[in-house]
Amino acid sequence: MTEFKKHNKHYKYKIPVIGDPAVGKTSLIQKYTKGSFHNDYLPTIGAQFSKYEEDIDGDRVSLFLWDIAGQDTYHFLRPAFYEGSKGAIIVYSLEESKQGKLSYDHVDEWHDEIKEYCGTIPVILIGNKVDLVDKQELNEKKIQKLVKKRGFIGHYRTSAKNGTGVLTAFQTLVKELINSYKI
Ligand code: GDP
Ligand code: MG
Repeated sequence: MTEFKKHNKHYKYKIPVIGDPAVGKTSLIQKYTKGSFHNDYLPTIGAQFSKYEEDIDGDRVSLFLWDIAGQDTYHFLRPAFYEGSKGAIIVYSLEESKQGKLSYDHVDEWHDEIKEYCGTIPVILIGNKVDLVDKQELNEKKIQKLVKKRGFIGHYRTSAKNGTGVLTAFQTLVKELINSYKI
């Protein structure tokens, strides 16, 4: 027997997922959206978005997760990439390498770019590749200082590889968006 579900509301959010190259942006989006009710990948030049639909507390939520494929070479696409974004995700890598440390140092720059194009919108910070690090190495104080200074709605450690924290991180942002944009 088919059951027709009536949704109270239909929320639609465009969410850019940004950060240095190779921190795991595409992997995180795929981990979160794979196996979902609706899952499309529509590649464009330099950027792509994944549409993902889920039901939260009886409401339908459509997420358009944007992912820049190329890096600085696609600077001219930035305005279109950010236009209409309701929230954003900044990803850095927890890897103890030069690249990992740099990706953390660049969080400020990524946030400045969000503010430039989107103004003040809810942003979460994700430290990805937690499966590669010894938990004791993580400097929570330093990160919480940055979260406070920048007004991020939270910081989450994730692994796109084994799934740790991925659901919690994305859903925290979605719930924050529902609350922020409620009339
Ligand atoms: P992007 O450039 O930020 O989109 O990064 P990708 O998603 O393409 O990932 C870059 C590389 O890091 C790939 O080789 C991924 O397999 C790897 N990777 C991504 N996330 C994780 C993770 O959480 N743990 C580990 N161990 N590797 C990851
Ligand atoms: Mg990518």
